[in-house]
Amino acid sequence: MFDAAPNGGDRAVCTTCPYCGVGCGVRAGSSAANEGVAGDSAHPANLGRLCVKGSALGETISLDGRLLHPQMDGKQVSWDAALDRVAGEFSRTIAEHGPDSVAFYVSGQFLTEDYYVANKLMKGFIGSSNIDTNSRLCMSSSVAGHIRAFGSDTVPGCYEDLELADLVVLVGSNAAWCHPVLFQRLLAARAARPKMKIVVIDPRRTTTAEAADLHLALRPGSDVALFNGLFVHLAACGSADKAFVKAHTTGMDDALATARAAGDVAAACDVAAADIALFYDWFARTAKVVTVYSQGVNQSSAGTDKVNAIINCHLVTGRIGRPGMGPFSVTGQPNAMGGREVGGLSNMLAAHMGFDHVGIDRVRRFWGAANMTHKPGLKAVDLFQAVKDGRIKAVWIMATNPAASLTDTNNVRIALANCPFVVVSELVQATDSSLDAHVMLPALGWGEKDGTVTNSERCISRQRAFLPAPGEARADWWIMSEVARRMGHGEAFAYTNAAEIFDEHCRLSAFENDGSRDFDLTGLIGADYDALAPIQWPVRKAGQGTARLFGEGGFYHADGKARFITVAHRSPRSAVSNEFPLILNTGRTRDQWHTMTRTGKSPRLATHRAEPWLAMHPGDAAAAGLAEADLVRVSSGLGEAVLKLTLDAGQRRGEVFAPMHWNDQFATSANVGRLIAPHVCSVSGQPELKFTPVAVRKVAVAWHAMLLSRQAPAFGSQVMNWVRAAGEGHFVHRLAGSEMVADWQALAAGMVGGDGVWLRFADAAHGIFRLANLVDGRLEAVLFVAPRADEASLAWLGQLFGPERIAASDRIAVLAGRAPGASGADCGPIVCACHQVGRTTILDAIRAQNLASVADIGAALKAGTNCGSCVPELRQILVQSPAAVAA
Ligand code: SF4
Repeated sequence: MFDAAPNGGDRAVCTTCPYCGVGCGVRAGSSAANEGVAGDSAHPANLGRLCVKGSALGETISLDGRLLHPQMDGKQVSWDAALDRVAGEFSRTIAEHGPDSVAFYVSGQFLTEDYYVANKLMKGFIGSSNIDTNSRLCMSSSVAGHIRAFGSDTVPGCYEDLELADLVVLVGSNAAWCHPVLFQRLLAARAARPKMKIVVIDPRRTTTAEAADLHLALRPGSDVALFNGLFVHLAACGSADKAFVKAHTTGMDDALATARAAGDVAAACDVAAADIALFYDWFARTAKVVTVYSQGVNQSSAGTDKVNAIINCHLVTGRIGRPGMGPFSVTGQPNAMGGREVGGLSNMLAAHMGFDHVGIDRVRRFWGAANMTHKPGLKAVDLFQAVKDGRIKAVWIMATNPAASLTDTNNVRIALANCPFVVVSELVQATDSSLDAHVMLPALGWGEKDGTVTNSERCISRQRAFLPAPGEARADWWIMSEVARRMGHGEAFAYTNAAEIFDEHCRLSAFENDGSRDFDLTGLIGADYDALAPIQWPVRKAGQGTARLFGEGGFYHADGKARFITVAHRSPRSAVSNEFPLILNTGRTRDQWHTMTRTGKSPRLATHRAEPWLAMHPGDAAAAGLAEADLVRVSSGLGEAVLKLTLDAGQRRGEVFAPMHWNDQFATSANVGRLIAPHVCSVSGQPELKFTPVAVRKVAVAWHAMLLSRQAPAFGSQVMNWVRAAGEGHFVHRLAGSEMVADWQALAAGMVGGDGVWLRFADAAHGIFRLANLVDGRLEAVLFVAPRADEASLAWLGQLFGPERIAASDRIAVLAGRAPGASGADCGPIVCACHQVGRTTILDAIRAQNLASVADIGAALKAGTNCGSCVPELRQILVQSPAAVAA
């Protein structure tokens, strides 16, 4: 799959973006010298678009910080030594303590082939089901809800349905930031067909909500009450499709009776009754409705019930599986769906088969399994609890970072520190989860590995290698197969390439299927793997994918009917108190991905939100004596994080929001996982990541500083707080200290080394100190200290790290923090990362040039004219601009 390269080079490889569940097609350069990336116009998910994260992929593939060789106990070893150790320790542990004493924790970043081998090894040959995945944190409530309602884990519709619908309801989804290309498709469809309406249901007024025709800022956790009320309304107002309900469903009466008992929906949801009535009316009157839901629904102790409350509303109206209609779960990760296909979750077996006798026996026979598991295994939170209390004695973590991303991460770290044997397969040398690894195994990354992924609309796409394997890094499937061979299972794992694994995966999906299971790749058996074009499963015949299911019924319960599920609203597991009076919600920011091992390398992606922050309503901040940009300590009783306060009128009173990405590799103390209790949905096991009672207090800060340095600095006790970001050829650190420093040069030299020449400026009366370090005329470091954080100089200072020798005029100007003759005006927080256009610049241009549209802003400043990720924020600024400009 080669054609002309995106940057005009020889050729490009058609592959898939490794980030969110939209699964955009990417055309990427085929050599290290040709790293350009562009959207693949032939890929059905994105039709050529990429968001800013996808556009910046070329900035993330350097080998800085990569793990390139196997290591044991911190020392480089041969592959044979490392693999023998892993196989030996796992075999010994199983022999002494049984198969359930070991576990794998894998990842939605895995390719399907890696996932398949991991699942087969654990469930078929080790004989345990203790394999779970970080997808448990992402969409396991949707999986459980689908299985309860449909008898299978099936997403009924496709992305095109969002464009064909007349009403799109986004529940618990900040798609503008988390699924940007899908959101751009939606906005484009509404622009072309203005009668389409968008409703956003989310406690926060996010960038997504700003674009909505109606926003219901409901009380966190009240989704079941809202959708039960809708269910009752639809049944009462004549919107029920009685023929569909009768022919294709069961259980409506019981579910409806419980929904009717719900009481006052407006009070339960804390939303104006008129807004709820308007939403119900639009939903009832509109035949073509798609309800998109994401982590705001799934990451809840009632996550599965929320999913079923939504599905009930589509079943009663028969609006499912037809163009422009249906419930639609959007996954967070690139291959969460692929993991579901192979059984990456501990409570699924393989190829959408479960732990019934027929399924277990069928998979056992297909695999020729030596030690077939017979029961579900531990789900993520329970799995690491079992590591901590010693039931699991050997754990292999692959392509994920649970010490940063799970709940109660202090507990996860203790578990790993005390576990007798920890293996980590990783791209990078240092993560929060690798600190206590006995063995580290270097895995291939995006651009280096070969396989398939499945996106949120069931579309299977190839990820293709276009870079050579660096160092001794190997594919995950190869690593696991080698361990399997050393454990005595070589015959079943004699794969020589990913294509063989994919073919086996297809054959298992088809094995004794005959239409009885939704997941069926019969038509891909023996397909040309190299040339495989994106296709939506089921693929029952060659070349025939399936865009939609269930339009004419045909559900996968034994009677072929869907189930209405009886659900009742219940509150989240925790409650606020005098000690912890605020509710912490967590989620993604626009330009970072998971624990930042890749996006953290990109200078461009660091400019949108460079620091971990806490969003709080201005009224709550004023009541607590807090101000914009204060450092605050957020604590929950389990742990704490230090974040930068940002005032956000889009927050409900009493609720705060923090991003999930920062961890100990990027900040002193910003891992919000430390704060979150391990409460889970009792059906799905998905953690409640969006409802944690916390207290917020101001951190006393004597000084703030910006440190730009070519080399990674070392921090002593005088630096109370640091946050790291990538710059072009340098690091950017924001620092804070609690006590004034007597000798700033000594502090700086201690952080970055004392060689060369130091330029100094001091205004002690105002607490301003500036230092620059030059070695042989080359700028090595700059330290700007001030009583309040000041970023005005950052962009220009960063440019000085480009040349080998600093120009004489710049040398004179460096401590002034601005180019000779420049005004030094701050462009404000970056909105358009592609063209580095800040909010202040945009507001100034709107005011000075009477800009009235996103197109006007693009013409004036270029903002929003490349990837389009910032377009929703530009619209937001335009809507808010009169007040903002006046301010
Ligand atoms: Fe990648 Fe962005 Fe597409 Fe998601 S929307 S797959 S992050 S390019």
